[in-house]
Amino acid sequence: MTIRLTLAHYQEILAHALSVYPVEACGLLAGTRETNCARVRRVYPMTNVDRSPQHFTLDPKEQFTVLKDVRKNSYRLLGNFHSHPSTSARPSEEDKRLALDKEMSYLILSLADKTQPVLKCFSFKHGLMLEETLLIEEQVLKRELLAPICTEAFRNPFTN
Ligand SMILES: [Zn+2]
Repeated sequence: MTIRLTLAHYQEILAHALSVYPVEACGLLAGTRETNCARVRRVYPMTNVDRSPQHFTLDPKEQFTVLKDVRKNSYRLLGNFHSHPSTSARPSEEDKRLALDKEMSYLILSLADKTQPVLKCFSFKHGLMLEETLLIEEQVLKRELLAPICTEAFRNPFTN
């Protein structure tokens, strides 16, 4: 499974993580499922009720509101994200214990080096933790309108 998000989505996750730093940031991701791919359509930055730099708990009231919005837009819940303010983007033992849903993608943003944030995506199947491919697409909307053969030219229209 590949998870796709736009640069704007990535920036939303990063901005939220920096705004609550050094507390762990958290939130939910919703969108659509396509063949072998989950496409994020909306990022929901949420409150970490633990206010902890080491773990997070989503606010149940916010969760309720988010799930209503997800349904209203006919999206599906694709997963969640949280930040690791001072450790790498590897799931902690607690992350593994709490990652119960096999259908969900779990994104972790490391701010161990704030100048070099690292975002990774994991899924958990049969007790195994797998890293998923994460694609951050800068021009996803425009690129979709172009024939595949134009994609390379579109990426660097003015260089070379
Ligand atoms: Zn974690």
